[in-house]
Amino acid sequence: MAFTASDRYAVFGHPIGHSRSPLIHSQFAEQTGQNILYFAQDVDLPQFEHEARTFFLSGGMGLNCTLPLKEAAFRFADTCSARAERARAVNTLVLQPDGTLFGDNTDGAGLLRDLTANLGLKLAGKRMLILGAGGASRGIIAPLLEAALERLVIANRTESRALLLADEFATLGNVSGSGFEALGNAQYDVIVNATAASLKGELPPLPDDLLAPGGCCYDLAYARTPTAFVRWGNAHGAAVSADGIGMLVEQAAEAFLLWRGVRPETAPVIRMLQPD
Ligand code: NAP
Repeated sequence: MAFTASDRYAVFGHPIGHSRSPLIHSQFAEQTGQNILYFAQDVDLPQFEHEARTFFLSGGMGLNCTLPLKEAAFRFADTCSARAERARAVNTLVLQPDGTLFGDNTDGAGLLRDLTANLGLKLAGKRMLILGAGGASRGIIAPLLEAALERLVIANRTESRALLLADEFATLGNVSGSGFEALGNAQYDVIVNATAASLKGELPPLPDDLLAPGGCCYDLAYARTPTAFVRWGNAHGAAVSADGIGMLVEQAAEAFLLWRGVRPETAPVIRMLQPD
């Protein structure tokens, strides 16, 4: 397929001012010699369908969708990958040669790659806890269960959402749901924070001995200074306590691969986005 200078891509979301995606994709384009234009546009839910149609009718070739648009993007896509169907959320839309839109969800693959390829974790046989049962959790559960965990527990402030989510994925592995107060004395090798609490400096009420010795903490949220959960991990003896910047870059690389057919190198871009 021949590409031209007019190949346009974008990320839609609200708010979007903080988005690092234009920088990440411009680095990928430069590195791989692809001539693309990628921009961020503030689009809230009520405008999404109109703006997305306008974008693709005016030559757009691919779109990333972030909060609060991932479920709407799933409904907007003509066809979807199995992982997007499972998540019922789409973060990447791809214009197909026949003019239809294909939806995918690259968040789970991005997290898995950051945990295993970048941070060097072996997930098989591990006990994993996910905090939070929102859209991000929904996107990462299936790929994590495919990594042959011993068990996966989803804990959420609103317990019923954790129970429902666990039920939905029960056929894929050993997964259960709970509230935070029911976490008890169990220990976990990997704890993933998928709540929206961390960036506000808040944390769920976590028992002090929740993390197994030598365990890993991973916060999907990221910031210029360590998030509240990254700090919690460091204070509780985590061998690794990382934020979600690696996942952000890896999910973007998956999207870039879908759009351009070439996988960019992520390590230099992750390094570039690390705070000094
Ligand atoms: P969401 O759908 O709004 O879900 C929010 C979740 O956080 C819910 O489970 C909610 O619990 C919980 N929560 C909110 N405030 C809380 C508090 N003060 N204490 C305890 N729990 C709280 O959001 P999302 O889309 O899942 O996103 C979650 C986080 O993941 C965000 O920080 C987002 O930026 C990040 N993320 C990062 C990447 C990446 O590439 N690194 C990708 C996707 C998402 P209730 O159900 O009780 O309300």
